[in-house]
Amino acid sequence: MNVLVLGAGQLARMMALSIKPFNANVLAYDVTTKRVVNPLAPEQTIGDLESGIEFADVITAEFEHVAHDVLAQCEASGKLKPSADAIKIGGDRRLEKALLTQCDVTNAPHFIIKNEQDFKQAINQLSLPIILKSALEGYDGKGQWRLKSAEHADAIWQDIERFISSNPNQGVIAEQMIPFSREVSLVGARSVSGEVKTYPLTENHHTDGVLSVSTALCDNEGLQQQASEVFARLTQSMNYVGVLAIEFFQVGDTLLVNEIAPRVHNSGHWTQQGSDCCQFANHIRAVSGLPLGGTELTRPTAMINILGEDNLPQVILGMTGVNVHWYGKEKRAGRKMGHINVSGHDTTQLNQRLIAIAALLPENTFSDIKQYINEQCS
Ligand code: ATP
Ligand code: MG
Repeated sequence: MNVLVLGAGQLARMMALSIKPFNANVLAYDVTTKRVVNPLAPEQTIGDLESGIEFADVITAEFEHVAHDVLAQCEASGKLKPSADAIKIGGDRRLEKALLTQCDVTNAPHFIIKNEQDFKQAINQLSLPIILKSALEGYDGKGQWRLKSAEHADAIWQDIERFISSNPNQGVIAEQMIPFSREVSLVGARSVSGEVKTYPLTENHHTDGVLSVSTALCDNEGLQQQASEVFARLTQSMNYVGVLAIEFFQVGDTLLVNEIAPRVHNSGHWTQQGSDCCQFANHIRAVSGLPLGGTELTRPTAMINILGEDNLPQVILGMTGVNVHWYGKEKRAGRKMGHINVSGHDTTQLNQRLIAIAALLPENTFSDIKQYINEQCS
C-alpha cells in the first residue's frame, strides 16, 4: 500500500510511523516547497506532485489548507480520500457553518461578514461579546478578534477591513461568545463502506489559544452519544472517508459544535497509548479501504503538548506510563515540538502521574500547563 499525504508536518510523520507495521509506504507532499518528501526526514526530496500521485494507491491530507488546484489534481486521479469538497469545508468557516446548518447540528449563533454593513448588522443581531474569525486560513486561534464592548467596534473593524482586503476570497464569521463550562472534542473514523468508530470524548485545555492538554473522558455516556450522533450525521452527509475531529463547547448537558477538522487532530494524539488502534493508523486504514481498528479506551490517558521546547528532563522518559513523541522540528517560541502521553491503570493513577510530570516540566514554557494539571488532578 502506497500513501501520499498532502502536508509534510508531524501528522504525516505520525501516520507514516503508525502504519509501517502494515507494510504501508507513506510519502508526504510539502505544500511550501511543492516537493514530495520522506515524512520522517522532510529534507529528503523524492520528486514532484505528479510523481507522488503516480506512486500513490491512495492520497490523503494532514491539513485542510491545501491549495485548491492541488486538491483538484489529486481528485482527478481518483485516489483522494476524503474528497476535495470535504477538505475544503474544513478550510473555510463559511462552508463549515453551511454544513452544520444543513445537518441541523447545534452551533453558536453566527453571521457572515463581507463588508462594514454586515459587521454592524452582526453586532445588532448577536449580543456582545462576539468573536470574529477569519473564514480562511485560521488555526491555533490565529485570525481572530474579540469584541467585548461597542466602543471598540471601530478599531476592530479597521483591522478586519485591512485583513479582508488582503485576499478577495477572504471573509469573516462573527460568532456569539458561548459561556461554555469546558471544551471537548470527538475524533472518529468512517470507512469506505460507511462503518463508523469513534474514540472517547476528550477534554481540552488551551494555552494562549493553542491546545496544550487533552484528557480522554472515561464515563460520559450521555455526552458521548450526543457527540457520536453528530459525527455520524456530518460524516454521512459528506460521504466522508477517513478520520475527522469535531470540537465542541459544553454548555450544561448540551454540546455545541465549534468547528470540524477533516483529518487527524491534536486532541487525538493520546490514542497512540490509550487505544488499540491510534487515530493515525485508523485514518490510513479508512482511506485504504481496510477494516477500522479498535477505538475503545484501553487505559485512562492524557496528552500534554510540548510547546516551544526541544528538551525535557531525562527522568521523564523513565517514568512508567509515560511516552514522549518528538516531531523533529526546529525550536521556535510556542511551536508544537512534540507531545507527552501519560497513562494510568485508573484515573487516580493517571492523575498522580500527571502531577509528578508537571513538577518536572520547565517553569518558563510550561507554567500554564503545570497550573492546569495541579488544579485538575489534585
Ligand atoms: P485550533 O486550530 O486550535 O482548533 P482555531 O484557530 O481553528 O483553533 P477555534 O477553535 O474556532 O479556532 O477557536 C479557538 C478557541 O477560541 C476555542 O478553542 C475557544 O476556546 C475559543 N472560542 C472560539 N469560538 C468561541 C465562541 N463562539 N465562544 C467562546 N469561545 C470561543
Ligand atoms: Mg479549534
